[in-house]
Amino acid sequence: MWAPGEEVAKLTYFGLYALQHRGQESAGIAVSNGSQILVFKDMGLVSQVFDETSLGSLRGHIAVGHARYSTTGASVWENAQPTFRATGHGSIALGHNGNLVNTAELAELVAAQSTESSGRATRVAATNDTDLVTALLAGQTDEDGRPLTVEQAAPVVLPQVKGAFSFVFMDEHTLYAARDAQGVRPLVLGRLERGWVVASETSALDIVGASFIREVEPGEMIAVDEEGLRSTRFAEAKPKGCVFEYVYLARPDTDIAGRNVYLSRVEMGRKLAAEAPADADLVIATPESGTPAAIGYAEASGIPYGSGLVKNSYVGRTFIQPSQTIRQLGIRLKLNPLKEVISGKRLVVVDDSIVRGNTQRALVRMLREAGAAEVHVRISSPPIKWPCFFGIDFATRAELIANGLTVDEIGKSLGADSLAYISIDGMTEATTIPKSQLCRACFDGEYPMPLPDPELLGKHLREPDAAGGRHGTEQPSVPDVDGVGTLTAGVGGTDALRRP
Ligand code: SF4
Repeated sequence: MWAPGEEVAKLTYFGLYALQHRGQESAGIAVSNGSQILVFKDMGLVSQVFDETSLGSLRGHIAVGHARYSTTGASVWENAQPTFRATGHGSIALGHNGNLVNTAELAELVAAQSTESSGRATRVAATNDTDLVTALLAGQTDEDGRPLTVEQAAPVVLPQVKGAFSFVFMDEHTLYAARDAQGVRPLVLGRLERGWVVASETSALDIVGASFIREVEPGEMIAVDEEGLRSTRFAEAKPKGCVFEYVYLARPDTDIAGRNVYLSRVEMGRKLAAEAPADADLVIATPESGTPAAIGYAEASGIPYGSGLVKNSYVGRTFIQPSQTIRQLGIRLKLNPLKEVISGKRLVVVDDSIVRGNTQRALVRMLREAGAAEVHVRISSPPIKWPCFFGIDFATRAELIANGLTVDEIGKSLGADSLAYISIDGMTEATTIPKSQLCRACFDGEYPMPLPDPELLGKHLREPDAAGGRHGTEQPSVPDVDGVGTLTAGVGGTDALRRP
C-alpha cells in the first residue's frame, strides 16, 4: 500500500485480515516513513500478532503485509514475512505469495553474490525461498561494483526467478509489485482516494475501501511513488492461473481474471449434477468451501438443498494442541451433523476436493451414525493425482488417495454409497477462463513450466537434515507458498522484530 496521509499499517492489517484464509502460520507488516523501514512480524494469526500498540508504532506512508502458509522452509519465526534486507541505498522489505521451483539455483546465486560483495547480503537466517529473492534484490551491483537501487535490480533479478510468485516489496520511497510470467497466483491493483493498494485478492481491496483498477499482469512489475505509477515488463506473459483458486483457495467474493469465484463454484456444482446425477432426497455441503457447488448441484438436479452440517468457524490454527481425547473426535472439532435434518435421508454430499481422503471418510461415517440412509459423495474438482509446486501444500504423491486408486475404489475406501468427481473440462469451463490459460497440473500432470530434479525441490530444501546435509524429497510435498496476503503502504527502518 502506498498512501500518504493514511494509517497504512492499520489498512494493511485489515487487508491481511481479509486474506487470513491464505496463510495462518505467521503474519507481518513492514512500514516506511520515507527514511527507514520498520518490520513487525510474529507467529500466529493476524489478530494474534498485532494489537493497537504494535500497529500504532508502525508509522509511515508505505506498507507491505503478509500472512504465511509455508511451502518452502519450516514454519518458524525466521521464515515469517515480510523478509528484510539492507541494501547499498537503504533497505528492502518483501512479501511473497507463491512458491519457487529454482530455489537451489537462487541459493547458489546468493552464495556467489555474498562472496563477491561486501557482505551486505550474507545474513541468512531464513530457510524459505523468498529470502533468497530479497537477498538478490538487495545485493546487485553494476560493473564497477556500485550497488544498484531496488528498482534497478528488479529487472536483473526477476527474470532469474522461476516458479509462482506474486511479490510486493518496497524500499524507503517506493512500493513495488511483480507477478510471474504465468500469473499462477492472483495479484490485483486498487486505488484509494489518496493512494494505491496491491493485494492477492479483490476481496482485500473491498475491505480497505479501495476500488479495483486492474490485475497486475503476468510478467509485469509496477512501481508507485510520489511521481505516480510506473509499469515495466520483465517477462513475456504466458498466463496459467491456478484453477484451484476457483475451486477452493480464493474467497468466494473475489474476482480473478474477471471471473467471480463464487459464481465459478456454483457453476461447477451445476456441471457436476449434469455429469454425475444421484437419486437422493437432500443435497448438503461440506461447509464452507463446498457450499456454492452444493447450491449449484441442488439447482441443476432439482433436489432440495439443506444445511446438514454445522461448522465451528473458530477452529483454525491454534497454539493450544488438542488433547488425545479431543483429537480422537477428529472432524467433530470442525463439523457436527444436524441429525434432525439428515436422519433417514438419502444424501448428496458436495465437497470441493479430496486430498488424502481422511476427512471425507470420517465425514461419511459421521453422517451414517447420524442416521443418513445413503451417502453419495460428489466432488467439484477432478481427482488430485499430482503434487503442486506452486504454493499449495497438498501432500506427497504417495499420500494422494487418487494416485493409484480408481474412483470406485476411492468411494469404497470412503465408505460412500457412490462417489463421482467433476471432469477437468467441466471444472475449467465453469471458470469461463480458456483451459489453455489455466494451470491444472495437480489434476492432469501437465505442469506449466519446467521443473528441476525432485531432489532440488521440497519444503525443507534449505534446511540441514540430521546428517548435516540438505533435505530433498523424492516426492516433494510442495514447496512454500508464502502468503498471500499482500497489501502495501508504508516503509520503516530497522529489522527490529518481536520474537515469539
Ligand atoms: S498444480 Fe494445482 S494447485 Fe498447483 S498451481 Fe496448478 S492448479 Fe493450482
